[in-house]
Amino acid sequence: MGETEIFAFQAEINQLLSLIINTFYTNKEIFLRELISNSSDALDKIRFESLTDKSKLDTQPELFIRIVPDKVNNTLSITDSGIGMMKTDLVNNLGTIAKSGTKEFMEALQAGADVSMIGQFGVGFYSSYLVAENVVVTTKHNDDEQYVWESQAGGSFTVTRDVNGEPLGRGTKITLYLKEDQAVPILNVSFLMYRDSNLLPLFQSVRLTFLFRKSGDELTSLKDQVTRMKEGQKDIYYITGESKKAVENSPFLEKLKKRGYEVLFMVDAIDEYMVGQLKEYNGKKLVSATKDGLQLEETEEKQKKEEKNKSFENLLEKVVVSDRIVDSPCCLVTGEYGWTANMERIMKAQALRDSSMSAYMTSKKTMEINPDNGIMEELRKRAEVDKNDKSVKDLVMLSYETTLLMSGFSLDDPNTFAARIHRMLKLGLSIEEEDEAGGGDEMPSLEEEGNEESKMEEVD
Ligand code: ADP
Repeated sequence: MGETEIFAFQAEINQLLSLIINTFYTNKEIFLRELISNSSDALDKIRFESLTDKSKLDTQPELFIRIVPDKVNNTLSITDSGIGMMKTDLVNNLGTIAKSGTKEFMEALQAGADVSMIGQFGVGFYSSYLVAENVVVTTKHNDDEQYVWESQAGGSFTVTRDVNGEPLGRGTKITLYLKEDQAVPILNVSFLMYRDSNLLPLFQSVRLTFLFRKSGDELTSLKDQVTRMKEGQKDIYYITGESKKAVENSPFLEKLKKRGYEVLFMVDAIDEYMVGQLKEYNGKKLVSATKDGLQLEETEEKQKKEEKNKSFENLLEKVVVSDRIVDSPCCLVTGEYGWTANMERIMKAQALRDSSMSAYMTSKKTMEINPDNGIMEELRKRAEVDKNDKSVKDLVMLSYETTLLMSGFSLDDPNTFAARIHRMLKLGLSIEEEDEAGGGDEMPSLEEEGNEESKMEEVD
């Protein structure tokens, strides 16, 4: 070991630690979700860096999160091969620089907030002390040596260069020395690896309700799901959303249901993190029903689809004719590797977190339209008559905005959407459009909004 340096926790962080240690909370297991979420962020960061420089992965080519309980020593370790931390990161991020969220979280707790909201305030790491009396963070960043951070709270932490410890290659290992009374539920699970089937019992014991099956409230595991898969079904399909109700009504389910495929409902925030890492189970790919990767079509259907694609050329440019929806006019899908609508929602809710992540993880969306839907067919016909028909453009924007909502996204500009709906209502009620002649004009003229086209570009 190198020389040990002792640092004092910043005053507010110290207060937070005392609060975490001394206040009585029942759902202490939320610490695991926070640590996995940090590991997941760290993996995203190195994955992103590797896009421009592949060699950044050389120090540890496999991207993983491993959770290992040690019954004998009463520890739990969470190891990731993420970006790791440099010495300065360790000192700043884990102790000496308090984020604004530190104080805000303590105030929120006093106002009755639940401890499980800790992640939203950007201080999730400290939830380790809900279950641990001593925490050791070993970390290796590509641009620095391996360091060890250690603290039993109590006002200070130490940082030491790790000369003799097992080299991580790259990433972070967090070892929690569990308090006596915390040993049981976690250490009951013998050996866990994030990609291992044994992972599931842990998640189920913690919730880091787990999975919903489409046929009801019944819970299912990935293992069961695989055995029940229909002949010809290659992948495991899942859909993520805010609640069971939200995913149940999703247009993405139509086609899969018609084919008799089961779809896993994942409605906990942690599920998003989990599937993001898991990627496949027992050789079966986990495919999101709301992302680009979903391929259901057979060759014959493909040909038909291309013909249909052509017939819609007049209507919309950067839009794809869909084969995943049956009744709905259109849907919005996200890139295979970016965030789903649900993840975007979760991330937006975590207002205080590192915003640089959103820039590259908010994926581009593609609008998929259902060529057999009456609305789309009529719009196509009208666009054929006049490609620049303003009312067609307006209706297309309206269906796009409705689709954003249906697909689980939020609207950046709800007022414009409301204005369009109001115009439709007026039309339906045969009320003449008088606003342009003056008077209380709370509804913007659709023509004035003008740049529908550029908005469509952003969508694509
Ligand atoms: P948040 O993750 O919301 O920023 P935390 O208190 O959970 O807040 O973590 C503080 C910081 O410590 C993170 O922003 C990150 O820079 C660093 N960190 C924590 N865990 C890890 C990890 N496993 N790998 C790399 N960095 C980490």
